[in-house]
Amino acid sequence: MKRIVVVGGGYSGFYAAWNLEKTLGPDEARITVIDPRPYMTYQPFLPEVMAGSIEARHAAVSLRRHLKRTRVIAGQVVRVEHARKTVVIRTTDGDDLELAYDLVVVTAGAVTRTFPIPGVAENAIGMKHVEEAVAIRDTLLTAFDRASVLPPGAERRRLLTVTFVGGGFSGVEGFGELLSLATGLLRSYPELTPADLSFHLVEAAGRILPEVTDGPGRWVVRNLESRGAHVHLSTQLVSAVDGHVVLSSGEEFDSELIVWAAGNAANPVVARNTDLPVDERGYLVVGADLRVGPRDAPVADAWAAGDDAAVPDLAADLPGRRTVPNAQHAVRQGRHLAMNIAAVLRGRPTKDYVHPSLGVVATLGVGHGIFQYHRIVVKGLPAWLMHRGYHVLAVPTWERKVRVLAGWLSMGVFGRDIVSLANVQHPRDAFVRGGAPD
Ligand SMILES: Cc1cc2nc3c(=O)[nH]c(=O)nc-3n(C[C@H](O)[C@H](O)[C@H](O)COP(=O)(O)OP(=O)(O)OC[C@H]3O[C@@H](n4cnc5c(N)ncnc54)[C@H](O)[C@@H]3O)c2cc1C
Repeated sequence: MKRIVVVGGGYSGFYAAWNLEKTLGPDEARITVIDPRPYMTYQPFLPEVMAGSIEARHAAVSLRRHLKRTRVIAGQVVRVEHARKTVVIRTTDGDDLELAYDLVVVTAGAVTRTFPIPGVAENAIGMKHVEEAVAIRDTLLTAFDRASVLPPGAERRRLLTVTFVGGGFSGVEGFGELLSLATGLLRSYPELTPADLSFHLVEAAGRILPEVTDGPGRWVVRNLESRGAHVHLSTQLVSAVDGHVVLSSGEEFDSELIVWAAGNAANPVVARNTDLPVDERGYLVVGADLRVGPRDAPVADAWAAGDDAAVPDLAADLPGRRTVPNAQHAVRQGRHLAMNIAAVLRGRPTKDYVHPSLGVVATLGVGHGIFQYHRIVVKGLPAWLMHRGYHVLAVPTWERKVRVLAGWLSMGVFGRDIVSLANVQHPRDAFVRGGAPD
């Protein structure tokens, strides 16, 4: 009986464990998944969670509910000591405990890349986790409530100014969805007008959405600008102290909400706290069959996949490329890794991971989207419908698909829920004050 430990139950880890359960018998392996969040976050839904089109809980896929034969430990792996075949886990209570394994699968994903820009750590928020998406939504909804009782002026303008930093996939999707929510909210706030909204997307490069070619990228900019947004290309955020945004172009404005979506960095635990080989950027070195280590000298009993691994892209035109860090690869690598582990345990050869891209599809807010597959480009409503169709099929398990679809259908009939639940951050206030004014 092999003890298989999976570090991280996100996309790759969840699919690896799920497929290990299906492939290996209970007498062949005992599987353990360790993750501080005992759920897989379906990150492509976060922009719609922010916009209130998807219920927050529906973007979180419970590991315990769906991994029937797997032990789930809620904790953070703080060290992988492969020489001792042991992981050190910090539990949610802060205690460290050791867990021995025969085989380790490292699928801890990446973290949000940050830069030491004054004011960002104090004022900005990321968009990689469910709680961030919920907080972004509540902040915008609360800002509408506050702005609606103010006369036109600087404070009202500040409250309704939103800044996204990063014009990659997640930044553009989040920006488009939040813009869609804000525009829709105006119907319920007769005190406010479209001119009160100020949405800024800041991107250091000369174009957004590097995943699509130049023409569709320019169309996305035009789409956002036609809906009232300001897209700042070739521009960097210089400072965000006290929510006062200063751009490298010289523009300055106050912004109630600053969302940081400027890409990924290596997971620090993987980059620094393991004796497994990592590359110069802190990503695990893996061969094409997803075994850790160089192709000609794999490390025994260590596997990795997803955003924390530098996986050779055998489908790329040019040699030496790595697979793009996205869900398309993470899911398939998780499954592939499970198949290869089963092969090795049964004395069979492994297979290389090869996956040509299926194209890119992004939401830009309700009714707006972009899809590209080689030279085929679909824009607007059809692309948005493709986005929804693709993701409702892609979210794991029927239980999740039904919940998400039911949410979309009820939103189609009744509209979005537009109430801020920001008070959940202070749940005892009403009880303690007993109705007394602040
Ligand atoms: C807003 C947003 C939208 C996106 N939209 C798309 C899209 O439309 N299409 C697409 O293809 N991709 C999309 N992506 C990218 C995609 O979600 C990621 O590439 C994918 O999640 C990577 O999977 P992973 O398993 O490597 O990492 P993750 O899914 O991030 O999972 C990593 C897991 O490891 C856990 N973990 C981290 N550190 C530790 C530790 N020390 N110990 C234990 N556990 C740990 C984390 O809690 C997490 O559960 C989007 C990403 C974001 C943020």
